[in-house]
Amino acid sequence: MPPLPRLPLIGNTLVVNEDSCNLGCAYCLTGRNNLTRGQALASVLDPPERDRYTPSSGLGRRIDRIAGRLRGHFDLPLLKVTGGEAFLVRGIMDFLEEQSAYHEVLVIQTNGVLISEEQLARLRSWGNAVLQISLDSHLHPGNSYRVRSRLLHRTVVEAVTRMLDSGLPVEVHCVLNDRSVVELDEFAAWLAGFATPPTLFPFPVRGTGSGPFKVRPEQVRHIEELAGRHRRYRHILPPLPYFDRLLDFCRRGGRAFRCHLPRLVVSTFSDGVITPCPNIWFTDVGNALARDADRSLAGLGTSGLYRELLAPSPRVDACHDCFTPWDTLSLYFEDEITLDQLCAAPTYAPPRVRELIRAAKATYRRGAGE
Ligand code: SF4
Repeated sequence: MPPLPRLPLIGNTLVVNEDSCNLGCAYCLTGRNNLTRGQALASVLDPPERDRYTPSSGLGRRIDRIAGRLRGHFDLPLLKVTGGEAFLVRGIMDFLEEQSAYHEVLVIQTNGVLISEEQLARLRSWGNAVLQISLDSHLHPGNSYRVRSRLLHRTVVEAVTRMLDSGLPVEVHCVLNDRSVVELDEFAAWLAGFATPPTLFPFPVRGTGSGPFKVRPEQVRHIEELAGRHRRYRHILPPLPYFDRLLDFCRRGGRAFRCHLPRLVVSTFSDGVITPCPNIWFTDVGNALARDADRSLAGLGTSGLYRELLAPSPRVDACHDCFTPWDTLSLYFEDEITLDQLCAAPTYAPPRVRELIRAAKATYRRGAGE
């Protein structure tokens, strides 16, 4: 079999201190990452550590180097920063500001609780920051796997409201579980009421151990009902084919369609570990801080693992259980949505991001990407 060609990467998802978060979502994947430090202690139950970013702190030296290496090697236009909760890191705004200058788009995933009005204004001033907010419902029952306390839930919703009123482009990432799915329609109506509404991406809870939280078969109708109201909510929802895939996933109890994400986005952790897709934390393909980092980066996409991940139908257990907002990229590669529909999302809107995605698909279509 011929080797896979160099990956047409558009982005890097940098996971900063993944075991340090101020919430303790019951279904969090972090405790099941078997690669990085601290996870064995089921760290979501521990009090959050507050690390510090400065260019000379330990964390600062590492993540500056990791982000720089990936960007330099692939000339990446997109950086996504996630955690844990990135805003638990004191001084993280300085890192984000520096990276915003190096990338066409800077995506920041957060629960929002720690972001101040001043920080929102600073993010807005850069002109290329996109917020991805993790929230399952504006009502407490539907969000109660994320936040057990009703009081804290109120704090979360106030923070999310500030972000939605900030004028920044926002995506809401809603994990569908047996509690949130029944409030999906009300949640959509709440989000649609904002002057500059976000895009709502519902996606199923995943990972080993997610069984008790999963949407039950008789609850799938709530997703069908939202899909049925797509016309009313189309300004806040991803294109309808996203729901076709989501419903197919829920009815079958897993993924049966091809994924293209590892062609386009790689993931790195703040200890340097590189993983082949942002949704796989269990296997590494090198370390961005190691002496041989350039060799690892040059080899991305060439391993048998990539062949498995990019296969016409899912082969790896993690893939069978995976459907996320990243899937709009795969929908475009599979001709189910157009480039305009894909790039209506602020994450993919910058012209160079759009052009790289278009070119990557053209290459794939010519057969070189197989
Ligand atoms: S389906 Fe597999 S390759 Fe694709 S994003 Fe999910 S885990 Fe990664």
